[in-house]
Amino acid sequence: MHVFFRGLLSLFKGMKITWYYLVHPSTVVTQQYPENRATLKLADRVRAQLAFNYDENGFHKCTSCHICEEACPNASIHVIDRPKPAIAKNELDHFIWRLDSCTFCNLCVLVCPFQVLKMNPTFESSVFDQRLLVYNLTTYAGATGPVLMKQPDAEARNKLIEPRSVYDGPTALEGYHLAGIPPGLYEPTSTTGVPK
Ligand code: SF4
Ligand code: SF4
Repeated sequence: MHVFFRGLLSLFKGMKITWYYLVHPSTVVTQQYPENRATLKLADRVRAQLAFNYDENGFHKCTSCHICEEACPNASIHVIDRPKPAIAKNELDHFIWRLDSCTFCNLCVLVCPFQVLKMNPTFESSVFDQRLLVYNLTTYAGATGPVLMKQPDAEARNKLIEPRSVYDGPTALEGYHLAGIPPGLYEPTSTTGVPK
């Protein structure tokens, strides 16, 4: 009997905090996900997706130097040069990032000499097909913003670049065309392809 009451006391002690929050709901700090999706705010330091920084004109500063690719311990980055650069010595064509193998170590962000890359906290990347975890991060093939801006005419400038989108990497990973997946289901949700 003694053991029974000790067990009961221990149970009540354990439940004390639960009962406290039951009668003080305004003090609850636990966030109810996904109900709180509209108001959920994650810390900026959360690393959930690799993304490009773009300037005010929508251009990047990637020189296709491949340093990030070489630094990545998991071969999660594949930088593809534009076969026929328009105006610069090297121009980026595709920047392939494999979320399925990335460990979010941040090395690629740190080694980039031009601060092209950043990690953002967008974490809802779950899909049913692993092939959809391979992204192309650049919105266009072409030179960097500073090089492009040497051409003052906007129309002429646009002829120097070609649009690229999230799943149009040169791999067999085109999400749009996977069997059983309706076209458009995985449309990019931002201009960078990867949701911001
Ligand atoms: S965060 Fe680390 S593992 Fe992921 S792509 Fe960058 S270097 Fe590679
Ligand atoms: S993202 Fe940075 S490190 Fe990687 S290829 Fe472009 S300029 Fe080089």
